[in-house]
Amino acid sequence: MHATVLDDARLLDTWDRAATLERPWRELVVLAGASGESVDDLARLSIGARDRLLLGLRIATFGSRLDCETTCPVCGTRLELSLDARDLVVPPRDVGPSELEVSDDEWTVRFRLPDSTDIAACIGATATADVLAERCLAATSGEQPVAISALPPRVRDRVTARMAELDGQADVVLDLKCAACSHGWQAPFDPAAFLLREVDSYAARLTIEVHQLARAYGWSEESILAMGPARRRRYLSLVLQ
Ligand SMILES: [Zn+2]
Repeated sequence: MHATVLDDARLLDTWDRAATLERPWRELVVLAGASGESVDDLARLSIGARDRLLLGLRIATFGSRLDCETTCPVCGTRLELSLDARDLVVPPRDVGPSELEVSDDEWTVRFRLPDSTDIAACIGATATADVLAERCLAATSGEQPVAISALPPRVRDRVTARMAELDGQADVVLDLKCAACSHGWQAPFDPAAFLLREVDSYAARLTIEVHQLARAYGWSEESILAMGPARRRRYLSLVLQ
């Protein structure tokens, strides 16, 4: 499954439908609007598989250059960085059933990779790791099922590490370094948050452009969106002279 590009009309339409939703449903609706897949199907993709589609959609819609801002946690200097989104794509890997199991002498844990329905189940929860574990893990000890809460932390940690290894796109981390004080640190990269912010600001700007052109020329929203950004800007430059 490949996410296609969000053209202007689809972006505006999708933005409307996503605006009132909470995450992760917002990004799923955006992805559904672009790809034509159902939200339910997309919600069943592992977080990494979903994030890979979101990155692909971002690249197709807005290009691969990512400009971000952050603040050094040590000296407070504001940093601007420019990344190439293609460098953040982790290639998918086939996951065999035997890989979805961690065991030692005492415990065996079978698990599945968390998806968006699991993230949605964590909304409002305080111990999200426990909610995820309850939903995604099944444990046995000596053939007997045991409660997830009874698992020792070392087993839980091994499962978490294996999940990250199998679904690498779900845990993309940026290595950052402050130009002023040389402090180095890591920050998680959330492609959904990034794309949603961009869709928000692009849609808001698009609404203003449609408004200005419709008022000046009496054209319909449909025809203004269909003309594409370059021609729209040329007319706008004439209107705003
Ligand atoms: Zn610094």
